Amino acid sequence: MFGLKTDWSLDVLPRYFTLEDYEGGVARWCPGCGDHGVLTAVQRICRDEQLLPEKTVCVSGIGCSSRFPHYMKTYGFHGLHGRALPVACGVKARRPDLHLWVATGDGDCCSIGAAHWIHAVRYNMDMVVMLFDNNIYGLTKAQTSPTSHQGLKTNTHPHGAWLPPLNPTAATIGFTNASFVAQTVDWNPVHLHATLEAAYHHKGLSFVRILQRCPQYTAQVYEQAQQDPSLVLLLTHEKGIQVDPAVARMYPNQMNHDPADLKEALAIANREDVLPIGLFFHDPNKPRYDEISTRGLDMTVDEKLVALNKELDRFAI
Ligand code: SF4
Ligand code: MG
Repeated sequence: MFGLKTDWSLDVLPRYFTLEDYEGGVARWCPGCGDHGVLTAVQRICRDEQLLPEKTVCVSGIGCSSRFPHYMKTYGFHGLHGRALPVACGVKARRPDLHLWVATGDGDCCSIGAAHWIHAVRYNMDMVVMLFDNNIYGLTKAQTSPTSHQGLKTNTHPHGAWLPPLNPTAATIGFTNASFVAQTVDWNPVHLHATLEAAYHHKGLSFVRILQRCPQYTAQVYEQAQQDPSLVLLLTHEKGIQVDPAVARMYPNQMNHDPADLKEALAIANREDVLPIGLFFHDPNKPRYDEISTRGLDMTVDEKLVALNKELDRFAI
């Protein structure tokens, strides 16, 4: 029966997986969309880590970035709006042996799925959560999202978005039991790759906000930072994201930040004068709910019945 064993190893011949083994359908994102770069980074990490495609699952909600599972030749679940995280937690609860990548957007995660976001971070189950933040609802053609900047003209606010934007990185750092919070940009493939790789190696929920270009609707949002690297603040530390020195030299603004320092992480996340990228917060010792939810998976049906009856007997009158 499904979910009643811990050994899911398959009797297949070992072989070396190439990039093609992870490439699914042709990506139908717009030309220049930042999502293409994220897809390439994840496929490369899968290849570098030699993740078994049959042991890898991509889960998403709804939105442009949520088409992600279609473009990976792994298992996938293209869910409902805002529901990527409960699906991913369910997968992890029953199949702890699977590698989980979650693709969600700023509308998907921070609006409709906001309650799931808070609790998935608190559950801290082992998975990589990629927040593709393009500051807009792209798939439904340019409505204001929770991260749209004030004044951004959208279909729902033609005179400009009214409210101050939500800061997903600062919010996640503030959630109970957060264990890995990072921020990167889609237009620096080296930093993007290094960040997602560090996220993959963290045991727990790794939250990575990816500042993502949407040339179709919000081309202007990250244009300046893309053209002028001095608007970006590169976080460096021996326990942080490691990038090639040649890439690090592109950024004149750098800050040595210990990712164990929660207070400083929050202060950096709230800075508005620069776009900080790197590992903001990391604590590998936070409790993980998957360590509890997967207990007893290897019990037989008979053993479960005995255990259930023993529990119920406590209430016998
Ligand atoms: Fe990418 Fe924007 Fe096009 Fe969606 S609308 S595919 S986010 S460029
Ligand atoms: Mg969006």
